Amino acid sequence: MTGYGSDFDDLDLDARIDVLAEKLANAKQIAFLTGAGVSTESGIPDFRSTTGIYSTTSENFFSIDYFHANYEDFYRGFAPFYRIVSDAKPNSGHLAIAELETRLGKPVDVVTQNIDGLHSAAGSTQVAEIHGTLRTASCVVCGKRYPREYFDADMRSGAVPRCACGGALKPDVTFFGELLPERAFAAAQRAMWNAKILVVVGTSLQVYPAAGLPRECDAGAPFVVINKTPTQLDSQASLVFHEAIGDVLPKAVARISNTTA
Ligand SMILES: [Zn+2]
Repeated sequence: MTGYGSDFDDLDLDARIDVLAEKLANAKQIAFLTGAGVSTESGIPDFRSTTGIYSTTSENFFSIDYFHANYEDFYRGFAPFYRIVSDAKPNSGHLAIAELETRLGKPVDVVTQNIDGLHSAAGSTQVAEIHGTLRTASCVVCGKRYPREYFDADMRSGAVPRCACGGALKPDVTFFGELLPERAFAAAQRAMWNAKILVVVGTSLQVYPAAGLPRECDAGAPFVVINKTPTQLDSQASLVFHEAIGDVLPKAVARISNTTA
């Protein structure tokens, strides 16, 4: 035993990928819970990792108080991050999750803490973005919501995007000090209740309320962790991968399509 409590931790990587493929193929309904680690392979920095955006900007940069204090300052600092996220493309992990849905023809819920929209871009159709999305922005005065095309040039250049009424636009992402979007969080809870297997990918789930979501799952549903570094959830998981997502998920999905072809 290597000490993280999984039922299969004495198997090598290849054998554990086989176990994952079998669990995914047999589950009637699948839920993924994903975090920054899924998108780092698309070149998007992890907000909370030591090499992420907080090491170069202040931790309160994404606080709602900082945002409202000075829109000009916020958008000047936000532009480099916005450009990286907007230009990012789905990677093999996003694509594998989307492919699972089309190949298996069964429901695959994706609950994500990421704001980059890459799961939808990859083709997943049931995505709950519990920290919101960068694809839309809303007026802080009248609440009108705008699509990316409307504010893209301003956000790229570091200018404050403005509503037709003159109010500043705020990205529809959850800032520190704000509540999570209610509808997305309710969808996330439903996904947990319905899941026959939960795969937690690229997140150490240290932030509540997202961290509490796995506990909403049926006690009998197997629970898999794919994360480069150990997480607090590892001891409760039946299968644990401390590997790069791109080295695990695409291989597992490919093995399923081979067996059903
Ligand atoms: Zn407005």
